[in-house]
Amino acid sequence: MSTSARPRVLLTGGSIAGPTLAWGLHRAGFAVTVLERSPARRDAGQNIDVRGLGREVLRRTGLQDAVMARLTGEVGTRFVDEAGRVVAEVTATAGRDGTTAEVEILRGDLSALLLDAVDGDVEVRYGDAVTSVDQDATGVDVTTASGARERYDLLLVAEGRSSRTRRHLFADRTRVVDKGVNIAYGTIDREEQDDDWWYWMTTSGRRTVSVRPDPLGTLRASLNFMTPDVGFDGLPVAAQLQVLRARFGDVGWRVQRVLEGFAQRPEEFYTERMAQVVVSRWSTGRVALVGDAAWGSGPTGMGTTLSLVGAHVLAGELGRTLSESGVTHGEAFARYERLLRRYVDSAQGLPPGTPGLMHPRSDRGVRVLHRGMRIALAPALRRFAEKTVITSQRHEPALPEYPGLRG
Ligand SMILES: Cc1cc2nc3c(=O)[nH]c(=O)nc-3n(C[C@H](O)[C@H](O)[C@H](O)COP(=O)(O)OP(=O)(O)OC[C@H]3O[C@@H](n4cnc5c(N)ncnc54)[C@H](O)[C@@H]3O)c2cc1C
Repeated sequence: MSTSARPRVLLTGGSIAGPTLAWGLHRAGFAVTVLERSPARRDAGQNIDVRGLGREVLRRTGLQDAVMARLTGEVGTRFVDEAGRVVAEVTATAGRDGTTAEVEILRGDLSALLLDAVDGDVEVRYGDAVTSVDQDATGVDVTTASGARERYDLLLVAEGRSSRTRRHLFADRTRVVDKGVNIAYGTIDREEQDDDWWYWMTTSGRRTVSVRPDPLGTLRASLNFMTPDVGFDGLPVAAQLQVLRARFGDVGWRVQRVLEGFAQRPEEFYTERMAQVVVSRWSTGRVALVGDAAWGSGPTGMGTTLSLVGAHVLAGELGRTLSESGVTHGEAFARYERLLRRYVDSAQGLPPGTPGLMHPRSDRGVRVLHRGMRIALAPALRRFAEKTVITSQRHEPALPEYPGLRG
């Protein structure tokens, strides 16, 4: 580390992992600058889950009450057919994480709470991004799009699943596994008959539809369809909406409402291709990855939890370089990876056959899936299903105590 009083860290990405890490590093004694590519805080995003150890991190940061006050109010999950008939349902239960987790919150709300927690302590710069990185034995030189050239002790990358900095510095260690599903997200009006269940509708042609409540008086919806990668994600919004109308135009249930709602709120409409990022080692020299940039999950419901836990552990381990003599950043990075690798690998893995099994081709496939769901989610088997298929909390590490990291 440098000889200045407080080692300087540049942290790229100001969503979930970024501010969580910034909070911990500041408390541990680092001077932290957060660089966020978007020009302002990003409100976008749908319902995200915080499960298991993620809740413990929220407790430690002192944000648990604020988070619990902003939940989406989802009462459980209902799997329905195209006629709207309930095939199987799972009620949310306090203290248990089923398909609906105990903590369901809008991504923008959680991100805002985390950013508020570092307000005034950490410099957050919006609208800039790293363009080149050069590191040597004593520091990292970083150039940004705005032309700034600065030297830091460490560079920590929390840029999300398609991180550019990771692509530059970790290309030979990264595998992106395409999961074959196109997802279109948006917000639609709530109507009088709507309630607070998360509805998941499966129909033939490898198509699914999700509609769930938010705390703002609207509903969050997604249209999902499985195809080879035909570049849907890169199309302009108008063309994407046209593709969706062609693909889902014949589907009943609430789908026409969703299509109209997406078109009415283009600013809240976005798409992604389901994929998993697997990086064989999360650090190189003075640079480390965290959150989706390091292990971007597919649809496991664990992405936010892993980001919170990863950021907390990375901050705690780097804190040791300041509080214990002789601990280097290299050892801190290695311990961070040792503590979390097995947990992340298992949480990131999807149950066998998914997402294909969840997106049947034919009407017969849909009936078989629904029969399977009825069995798996029957009260006698539900706990087993939650443990082995729905949630993925195997290999949870014992979270070390980091004395300075308490809110
Ligand atoms: C706009 C948005 C909407 C989302 N919606 C959902 C959702 O509906 N459901 C869900 O489960 N998950 C959603 N996610 C993903 C979810 O936030 C993550 O899976 C998880 O919380 C991990 O967070 P993260 O901080 O590692 O990465 P992310 O949340 O992906 O955040 C990465 C951040 O880094 C910024 N960034 C990217 N590149 C650079 C760069 N080069 N320099 C500086 N900053 C950079 C991005 O603008 C973003 O703010 C969304 C993420 C974003 C950014």
